[in-house]
Amino acid sequence: MKRIFLLLLGLLLLSGCQPQKHDSQTFAMDTIMQFTAYGPKGQQALAHASARVQELDQLFSVTRSTSEIYAVNHAQGEPVALSEDTARLLAQSLELCSQTGGALDITAYPAVRAWGFTTGDYQVPSADELLALAAQIDYSQVELTENQVRLPEGMELDFGAVAKGYTGEVLAQELRELGVESAILTLGGNVQTIGSRPGGDPWRIGVQDPEGDGYLMVLSLVDQAAVTSGGYQRFFDADGERYWHIMDPASAAPARSGLTSVTIVGDSGTQCDGLSTALFVLGWEDAAGFWREHQGFDAVLVDEDGRIAITAGLEDRYVLGPGYEDRTVEVIRP
Ligand code: ADP
Ligand code: MG
Repeated sequence: MKRIFLLLLGLLLLSGCQPQKHDSQTFAMDTIMQFTAYGPKGQQALAHASARVQELDQLFSVTRSTSEIYAVNHAQGEPVALSEDTARLLAQSLELCSQTGGALDITAYPAVRAWGFTTGDYQVPSADELLALAAQIDYSQVELTENQVRLPEGMELDFGAVAKGYTGEVLAQELRELGVESAILTLGGNVQTIGSRPGGDPWRIGVQDPEGDGYLMVLSLVDQAAVTSGGYQRFFDADGERYWHIMDPASAAPARSGLTSVTIVGDSGTQCDGLSTALFVLGWEDAAGFWREHQGFDAVLVDEDGRIAITAGLEDRYVLGPGYEDRTVEVIRP
């Protein structure tokens, strides 16, 4: 009797130590999002997260005719008043466009559409068409004053390279305010963590092999975001060539920098998302140079020869994935 009592007591204590796990799933921004939060505030917080994601999608969608970005893109040169979220993301994006010398350019949308990435109706535009498209891409012509934006006619904004990162960052802030201390949010290829795993170990995030199904490496994260951009995520093949959805704004064509994926780890989801796209465009040398100059984040670069590099901040925070133990990892140092 006494032993059964002790056993029950033990079970009770054990389950008391394990905070309750809450899961939710929602579809937004063209992708499946999966949220897991631990602890007593988890369920309510996840309900908030799903509603908030839908709200942001409704603001940022480039295709929905009721979105704020759609209104901006169809204002024909007239100024448009913006919500706080859109104004904030636009300001941060323009800053990243400028920092990356236009490798990130949120006015690349006409090029993305010309290649068929908005509809799945893929095609290779003519050389003349590409020249005309490239001449039209120029984030520096976006006029943002406080909460009002004006675009030159014919120019269109697209938050595709930054929206999920911003969303993860905002959700993390708001979930923390709602009392969540441990959570992981997966928004397509974007991962946002809150705190550490229950029990205190870091979250472990896999970096996908761009050429296969496995994980090249596993990164340890606490309270940070990890965002991957890769040519393998959305692409089509034509005439023996592969074309993907990350554009080089200079040519209005898919960026061929020799990189196959870029993962950015950092405190700001928006920055991670913007830089994962930009550094993919910049290529190995310029990406390493950008990190040396700016720092404040870390990166994993993979190129088409299978070379892998990490920036110095990740040196003690990664292990090679199963099946990849014999791969060499170069370290980019300041
Ligand atoms: P994903 O959306 O697959 O996570 P990214 O964050 O790299 O990948 O964003 C790619 C999306 O951003 C494209 O689908 C397109 O809408 C847009 N885009 C493509 N190239 C650029 C670029 N150089 N600068 C800004 N946006 C881009
Ligand atoms: Mg991005």
